[in-house]
Amino acid sequence: MEKPAREIHGGVKFRTEFLSAAAPADARLEELKAWCAEFHKRNFAPPYGEFSQGNLSFRIRPGGDAFVISGSQVGWKDRLTDDKFVTVQNCDLQNGIVYANGTRDPSSESMLHFAIYRARKDVQAVFHGHSPEILRCVDRPPDIPETREKHSYGSIELVQSVIEVLGDADFVIMKRHGFVSLGKTMEEAGKRAIETHRLCLQE
Ligand SMILES: [Zn+2]
Repeated sequence: MEKPAREIHGGVKFRTEFLSAAAPADARLEELKAWCAEFHKRNFAPPYGEFSQGNLSFRIRPGGDAFVISGSQVGWKDRLTDDKFVTVQNCDLQNGIVYANGTRDPSSESMLHFAIYRARKDVQAVFHGHSPEILRCVDRPPDIPETREKHSYGSIELVQSVIEVLGDADFVIMKRHGFVSLGKTMEEAGKRAIETHRLCLQE
C-alpha cells in the first residue's frame, strides 16, 4: 500500500483520565450527530479506512470549560450511537492529560477544542474538518487567517499555532492540514464551513 502523502488522524497523543464511563446525556447530542453526518456527506471529514478524519464539539454551558466531542477512531458514515461521543471536562495542556467521561478516547484534537473554548468565551461550537478546496483558498478572498507552520495532528504545537492566529476570527486554516470553523451555535459553525467551502470553489 502506498504511504499517504499527508499525516492522517491515526490516534491520540495525550493521556485520557476517565472520570466515569457515562456517555453524554445532552439533548444537543442529536444535533452534533447530524453535523457529523453532514460533514461526512460533504467530504469535510474524509474517511481513512473506516474512520472519519474530523472532530466536532459543542460547549456544554456558556463560560464553562466542559464540552461534548466526537470520539477518536469513529466512522461517520452510519448512524452514530451516544457512546461514540465523549464529554471532556478539563485538559492539562502542559502535561497532555485530558479528563473525560465516556468509554472511548475523545478525538485526537481535544486539546485544540479546549484551548479555543478557553481563548474565546463567545464560541459555543468548534468544528474541525479537512478540505483540499479550502486549503487552496489562502492568499485570496475570502481572506482566511492561516497558521504559520504545519504541525502534526494532536500536538501542543498545533494547538499553539491556531491560538496564535485566531484573534476574533471564526474560521482558521491549519496550514496543509485542515480548518476550524467556530460559531455561537452548532448551526453557525456548520453553515460557516459550508459557506466558506462554497466561496473557495468560486474562481
Ligand atoms: Zn485534522
